[in-house]
Amino acid sequence: MFQTQILNFLKRHHYMRIEPEVALIDMDGTLYDSMPNHARAWYQMVQEYDIPCTPEEFYLYEGRTGASTINLLFQRTFGHDATPEQIEEMYHRKTVIFASMPEPKPMPGAAEMLRFLKEVGIRRVLVTGSGQNSLLQRLDRDFPGIFSDELKVTARDVVHGKPHPEPFLKALEKAGVHASHAIAIENAPLGVKSADDAGVFTLGVTTGPIPAIKLIEAGAGLTFPSMTDLASQLPMLIYSLMTTSNNLN
Ligand code: MG
Repeated sequence: MFQTQILNFLKRHHYMRIEPEVALIDMDGTLYDSMPNHARAWYQMVQEYDIPCTPEEFYLYEGRTGASTINLLFQRTFGHDATPEQIEEMYHRKTVIFASMPEPKPMPGAAEMLRFLKEVGIRRVLVTGSGQNSLLQRLDRDFPGIFSDELKVTARDVVHGKPHPEPFLKALEKAGVHASHAIAIENAPLGVKSADDAGVFTLGVTTGPIPAIKLIEAGAGLTFPSMTDLASQLPMLIYSLMTTSNNLN
């Protein structure tokens, strides 16, 4: 199983094989069912500033830093970037609205997926564009013993957010491994593009309204219809990764 897709990836990146030692894992929409709250908070905040937008578009910006989303809206509406003060004020307002919403629940299947990785000795690195302390602080409570403080990349660690490869390159650097020794787990097209451009075999999981084809177009090596499905197929997938090799001759 999975051999065709794995070989396609190996050929595209000129790797002999993938030896998965670390998993680079996104947070929003991957570990937490938080995207509906994020999208609603963005929509409400942007409407308060009388900038035209739709509730759905914020799913497509998932993975961007807050500043980059605000600049995108400003460029579209006014033809120029927002000032740093406007960005700070608007992002703060969005954070306040988000924090007032009911707590997002862990994604079904996420705990099982993480437990399996830990059991087989694959180290976990968090790679999120988020700087939302409310969720970051919950990680240890909801997924105890999974993420160490040294192996987290958040909005604070990068200059360029997803879809730029910097967040995943930073994660590889923190883990001290080459991209061919990693896999990534992502739910959003911009996140998938960031991971694939960093050279990492990326598992795209559809957990919201964005269809699988968008994740494949962004570079996902494989897609799964839910985190529960990924968790149940992960043992076979890791085995397939370790036993599939690309004859470079
Ligand atoms: Mg995400």
